[in-house]
Amino acid sequence: MANKDYYQVLGVDKNASADEIKSAYRRLAKKYHPDLNKTPEAAEKFKEINEAYEVLGDDKKRANYDQFGSADGPQFSGAGGSGFSDFFGGSGFSGGFGGGFSDIFSDIFSAFGGDGRRSRVNERGEDINLAMKLSFEEAIFGVEKTIVVGKVETCASCSGTGAKNGTAFTTCPDCNGLGRVRIQQNTMFGTTIREGACPKCGGTGKIIKERCEACAGKGYKKVQKQITVKIPAGIDDGQTVRMRGEGNAPRGRGVAGDLNIKIQVMPHKLFKRDGYDLMFDLYLPFTTLLLGGRVEIPLTKGTFNLDIKEGTQSGTTMRIKGKGVKVLNKDTYGDLLVTLKSEPPKKLSASQREILEKLADSFTESDFPKYKDFKKSNL
Ligand SMILES: [Zn+2]
Ligand SMILES: [Zn+2]
Repeated sequence: MANKDYYQVLGVDKNASADEIKSAYRRLAKKYHPDLNKTPEAAEKFKEINEAYEVLGDDKKRANYDQFGSADGPQFSGAGGSGFSDFFGGSGFSGGFGGGFSDIFSDIFSAFGGDGRRSRVNERGEDINLAMKLSFEEAIFGVEKTIVVGKVETCASCSGTGAKNGTAFTTCPDCNGLGRVRIQQNTMFGTTIREGACPKCGGTGKIIKERCEACAGKGYKKVQKQITVKIPAGIDDGQTVRMRGEGNAPRGRGVAGDLNIKIQVMPHKLFKRDGYDLMFDLYLPFTTLLLGGRVEIPLTKGTFNLDIKEGTQSGTTMRIKGKGVKVLNKDTYGDLLVTLKSEPPKKLSASQREILEKLADSFTESDFPKYKDFKKSNL
């Protein structure tokens, strides 16, 4: 193979630029590609062109070739060709060529409108994406919801075959049941052969003798299906529940898509959530914070008694371990965070006022260090 003059093969001058070599190769590859050119010498010519371009299209190999008459330099040991069978088999273009090679081929092949790999064989059904609103409590405790979803289902009467009783069909003689055939196509470059869905059976591999009445021979139907969705306890706003295989059935052979339900959680008038922690503001009579005491907090599983110390400051947050939201798919819980707020009465009776004034008089400045600091500071 090293005896061929690569410059002559590509029809370029020894001093040709990289661009000139690339465009000469592009032109010749289109001319002699065996899918496009059916003359007996095309395949051999195409192989030569690729051999030449593999060397001249690569700066380093070209320099070796110019100097030593071989792309591999002086240690040339007669290495063989580089996997052309791949190209003639039409099974991908991952051969050991420089970057320009695949560029050129994607150009050529895009001219035919794709590679014909799409067919109805082994298709995956489409996903169905829905949104679902949940109350705050439903998200925390989990819930089961029954929804009605419009979806494509494999026809049960014919098991998706499209044939009456699922048996009134024969194997397609054109594709032997494979659903794919080699198709001859006339293009601007001439006649090409490519693989595609079998036109006789539409890619199903079957010839229907008598149609299934339930689906008019399609093998699938659009149905309104009731689906029970189990929302796990602890789900949060923006998360998605995925039900595998509950999406649309494929229109040919293959697997069904998924049903994805995006969760939107409504706010609660009292509670807020941060991950699995639950929080709320607990307003207590100002005297409770001042005097201390015990407050009963109702929870779903019994009550929790919160002990308030004397002189508790308004805004203090108390953490109650394990009384928050259940962690998704685990047997643990977040915490409950209670922020204590002081609620003073809005009106006082004359006697209450008298008592409180006496109380106020009994305090000194040092009982209120923060207020003392404030008074001392120069704003
Ligand atoms: Zn067929
Ligand atoms: Zn049917």
